[in-house]
Amino acid sequence: MSFGLRNAPSTFQRFITEVLFGLDFVFPYLDDVLVASSSEEEHKEHLKMVFDRFQQYGLRINISKSVMGADQVEYLGYLITAEGSRPLPEKVEAITNYKLPTTIHELRTFLGMINFYRRYLKEAAKTQAPLHEMLKGAKKKDRRKVPWTDDTIKCFEKCKADLAEAALLSFPRYGLPLSLCTDASDFAHIQGKDNVVADALSRIEAVSTIDYDAIAEKQLHDEELQQLMQNNSSLKFKPSTLPSGKILWCDISTSNIRPYIPQQFRLQMFQQIHGFCHPGIKTTIKQMTEKFIWSDMKKQVGEWAKTCIRCQKCKVNRHTKSKFGEYQVPDARFSVVHIDLIGPLPPSEGMEYCLTCIDRFSSWMEAVPLPDITAEIVGRAFYNHWVSRFGVPAQIITDQGRQFESHLFRRLVSICGAKVSHTTSYHPQCNGKIERLHRTLKGAIKVHDNIRWTESLPTVLLGLRAAIRPDTNHSIAQMVYGTTIKLPGEFFDPPTIRMNQETFVSKLQKFMEELKPMPSTSVKHQILFVHKDLRSCSYVFVRIDRVKKALEPPYKGPYVVVERFGKYFTVLVKDKHVNITIDRLKPAYLLATDKVNDKPCKHSDAKDSHLSSNTQTTSRCGRHVKRPVRFRD
Ligand SMILES: [Zn+2]
Repeated sequence: MSFGLRNAPSTFQRFITEVLFGLDFVFPYLDDVLVASSSEEEHKEHLKMVFDRFQQYGLRINISKSVMGADQVEYLGYLITAEGSRPLPEKVEAITNYKLPTTIHELRTFLGMINFYRRYLKEAAKTQAPLHEMLKGAKKKDRRKVPWTDDTIKCFEKCKADLAEAALLSFPRYGLPLSLCTDASDFAHIQGKDNVVADALSRIEAVSTIDYDAIAEKQLHDEELQQLMQNNSSLKFKPSTLPSGKILWCDISTSNIRPYIPQQFRLQMFQQIHGFCHPGIKTTIKQMTEKFIWSDMKKQVGEWAKTCIRCQKCKVNRHTKSKFGEYQVPDARFSVVHIDLIGPLPPSEGMEYCLTCIDRFSSWMEAVPLPDITAEIVGRAFYNHWVSRFGVPAQIITDQGRQFESHLFRRLVSICGAKVSHTTSYHPQCNGKIERLHRTLKGAIKVHDNIRWTESLPTVLLGLRAAIRPDTNHSIAQMVYGTTIKLPGEFFDPPTIRMNQETFVSKLQKFMEELKPMPSTSVKHQILFVHKDLRSCSYVFVRIDRVKKALEPPYKGPYVVVERFGKYFTVLVKDKHVNITIDRLKPAYLLATDKVNDKPCKHSDAKDSHLSSNTQTTSRCGRHVKRPVRFRD
């Protein structure tokens, strides 16, 4: 394999992941590729598929460094067998022969080594705690003598003995329930209820399918539901029969049928709905209150939306007032379309660019992944994905980007016979609304935080089209279809009234006449943003000021605040105290039940490392969806 790319390991990791995409028996780590098969026959097939991919991408294998058809293999410091994995015997031996460290630096090296295998060690954090205690205040290459005592020497020996006895970790068996366990002692210094990370993890694991049968069962003994049914005169409850025969109580006082959601399912409902495109707090509340019902729902949903870590990491708070241009509201849908190209993006299923098309009237958007941005490709994509659905627009508006200026791009316009307006010559800021939509679209792709952005794109688009727009009070889908679209997991009755097709068109036309986007000037200016909570928050997000990779979130964190000074804070970033100017900080909102007391933890390496791993885990947030339940009445 070529090593020229290894200067940039993360780029290479993305590349190799892309090359081997969809082959679930392959575990690539940089140029180390593990292929796991259950039989010799299968292994041959697997290898052939892997080699085919390598050939397609022009990759070569160094045979002398390869092991094929082995029933156990060393991989990244582990011995992998059919039964599971264990630390490599020679590595274990090196550690068990490790002499009692004399300097602080040696002790740190030892702990680093042993931590590589920490997942094989039971209660590692507890066993190692007295050793870590001695590292406090240590400097780099610290030559001070370790103040060994009988107890800490025992502790050192126990660490080695534990590793020597390291248990074989079995592979998870598919089809059996998989349970997630965290090393509870890692959090010994954090109170259970304050354990943000573990709780966040369990929350993410909870995102799955909506089980309306289970909800119906819980409703049976739900006191809150009984009270709502008896006391609240504005709600109207009606029993609905699920396919299983179970009864689900729904409120029918509004035009939507809203099932009552018992307490234990509420967060899941929120994650399901909010997870599509991570809309703002108001929109999330509106979507939730349209679909479900429970007491105090707005407050709770608002709090969840405010504390969504992904939203906080990805959404840039605007600090300045910005003016958006006024423009003539066109009276027809699909007559003026704004198009743009995003990219290059991390390669995903061979795609590195994205063509975005937004209808000025309805804000309907399409985003088409593209392998390249030649006129041929862009033109065909625009024709296939836009013109075929909405017809030829009267006008195409583009930014004055270089790609768009090129003669190649003009050819696209000749395909459509439409006039191209350049933003600046048309009206200085007529693209204001479109720019915001564009930012929303890009932001939503980022929130999914997936290098496989082509996979999450349809979900992002569905979420954006279903979300209510504050400037029109309608969803984009309503502006185009005249009716709302249902999200996966949403509960609904099959239509009972048969629509008369003859009158439908005239009704739709009438409805559309009433719909008009408001001029963009009516959009409220955002008030100068002041982080009023910065002085009191326990965690902060830090804005990334270097040039960001495509789709990288603009903030990192959350990090623990160690100390506050006038113009800067000391923040704990990966075990290190870092001073960061307050301009780059914004307060992190964590759920009230998670809130850590104001005194930040002194020794929180474990927590910090878990925080960073947690942020990766959340990438799957909201991606598990299931078709909605339909039922007979
Ligand atoms: Zn969110």
